[in-house]
Amino acid sequence: MEKICNYIGGKLVNPVDGKYMDNYCPSNGKPYSLVPVGSEDDVSAAINCAKRSFENWGSSTREYRYGWLMKLADAIDKNLEKLALAESLDNGKPEWLAKKIDIPRCAANLRFFATAILHLDSKSHNMDGEAMNYTIKQPIGVAGCISPWNLPLYLLTWKIAPALAAGNTVVAKPSEITPYTAYLFSEICIDIGFPEGVINIVHGQGDIVGASIVKNCDVVSFTGGTDTGRLVAANAAHDFKKCSLELGGKNPTIVFGDADFDLSVKNSVKSAFLNQGQICLCGSRVFVEESIYDSFKKSFIKEAKMLKVGCPKEVSTNLGAIVSEKHLNSIFSKIENAIKNGAIVAAGGKKVVLPGDLSSGYFMEPTVLLNTKNTDSINQEEVFGPVVTIMPFKNEKDLIKMCNDVKYGLSASIFSQNISKANRVAAKINAGVVWINTWLLRDLRIPFGGMKGSGLGREGGYYSLDFFTETKNVCFKIEKDDNK
Ligand code: NDP
Repeated sequence: MEKICNYIGGKLVNPVDGKYMDNYCPSNGKPYSLVPVGSEDDVSAAINCAKRSFENWGSSTREYRYGWLMKLADAIDKNLEKLALAESLDNGKPEWLAKKIDIPRCAANLRFFATAILHLDSKSHNMDGEAMNYTIKQPIGVAGCISPWNLPLYLLTWKIAPALAAGNTVVAKPSEITPYTAYLFSEICIDIGFPEGVINIVHGQGDIVGASIVKNCDVVSFTGGTDTGRLVAANAAHDFKKCSLELGGKNPTIVFGDADFDLSVKNSVKSAFLNQGQICLCGSRVFVEESIYDSFKKSFIKEAKMLKVGCPKEVSTNLGAIVSEKHLNSIFSKIENAIKNGAIVAAGGKKVVLPGDLSSGYFMEPTVLLNTKNTDSINQEEVFGPVVTIMPFKNEKDLIKMCNDVKYGLSASIFSQNISKANRVAAKINAGVVWINTWLLRDLRIPFGGMKGSGLGREGGYYSLDFFTETKNVCFKIEKDDNK
C-alpha cells in the first residue's frame, strides 16, 4: 500500500517513530494507503523548519509571496483531475463535486490571498502636526493550521493561503481520515520548487499532532467540532496565542409562506444534503410557515427521495459515501434516538448497499424526519450527515426563538419574497452568516464565522489577513520649527 509521508523542510519524510495507520476508502470500506502516526518529535522537526524559514519568508516582499502562491494555484489547476479523484477516493464525495467545488476552490483560495496581500493598506493618524502615528501589520511567525475531513484540501488552503500571504510560515495538520490530497499537495510544492520549510504538513492524530502544533506554534487557525475547538482554545490560552475557531453548526433554513416555492424547495434540499450533509453550513433544521407546511413538506420529501445515492465516480450520483464507518454509526444512532423521542421517518433512514466492490461502502439514504420538537437532541446536536428535520412555525416571534434556541450560531437561510421581513428576521438571528433567497453563495471577501458555540473570530478577505498579522503602532514626534 502507498505510504503517505509528512512534508517537513521541503522533503517528504517518514514519521520519526516509523508508525503508520490504515487510511480507508469510504466507498468500499477498504484500506488503500498508510498514514503516518505523527508524534511530538515530528511536530517539533516541522516547527523548527518553519521557524528557520520564517527568517526569509517573513521578511520577503509581497510580490515574492504573491508569485509563489500564484505558482501553487496554477499547479493545482494543472492537477485538478488527479486531486479531485483523490479527494473523492479519500472522502467518499462524488467526483463531480470535488472537480466542480473542492479543488477549484483550493486554487481560488491561493489566488485570492496572493492578490489580497498586494492591496493591503495601512493607516496613519496625524496628531495635528505634533506627531504622526503609523500602523504596521507584521507576520506573527509559525501558523498552526488544523483542518477537518469534510472539505479536506479546500479548508487546508483556506487557512494556509492567508497565513503565507501575510508572511507567516506554516505547520498544517489535515484530518487523519482524509490525509491524501494534503500529501499530493506536498508533492506539488516539491515539483514547483516551493521554498523549503515554508509549508510543513504533519499527519497523525489530533490529540497528539494537533495538540502539539497548538502548543508550539505562534498563532492557531482551527476548523473542526465544537468540543475539539474548546480544547484548542484552552491550550492556546496558556500562552495567549491568537486563535481562530471555525466550529460546528445547527443551521436553520426558514421558509415563509410568501417564498418562491420552487426556489425554496430546491435550495433547502441542496442545503440539507450536499456533500452528504457534511458541510458546516448545511441547513439541518427546516422551519416552514404553517400556511404552506403540508405542501412544502410533500415537495421536499419527493425531491429528497429522488436523490441518487451511488458510486462517487458516476456523474448522476448526488450523494456519495459517508466519510467513515464510525461517523456512519454515529449518524444512525442519532436517528434511532430521534425515533425513540417520537420522530417519524418520512424519507430515508436506511443504509444503502451498492453492488459489487461498493457493497461494503458507507452509504446511506438522505433522511427526512418529521414530528420533532426544536428542543429534541436531533435539533440541538450537530449530526453532520444527510439528516434534516422539518418543523412548522406560526409567527416570526416563535420562529426566531426556535432558530436561536441552540448552542450554535453559524449560518441561516431565509426564503421570502417580502424583503423587509427577510431582512428584519436576518437581523434577529444569532448567526455569523445569513443568506436571503439563496444558500452557499460565497464571496471570499466577506467575514465568515460563527457566534456562540460555532466559533470565535472571522475568516475571509482582510479578516484573515488581520488575524495572521500583529498590529503595531509607531508614533514619532515632529519637532517644531523654532524659527516660526
Ligand atoms: P474534529 O474536531 O474531530 O477535528 C478537526 C481537526 O482537529 C482534525 O484535524 C483533528 O485531528 C484535530 N484535532 C482533534 N483533537 C485535537 C486536539 N486536541 N488539538 C488539536 N487538534 C485536534 O472535527 P472533524 O474532523 O470531525 O470535522 C467535523 C467538524 O468540523 C464538524 O463539527 C463541522 O461542523 C466542523 N466544521 C466547521 C466548519 C466551519 O467553518 N465552521 C467547516 C467545516 C467543518 P484528527 O481528526 O485527525 O484526530
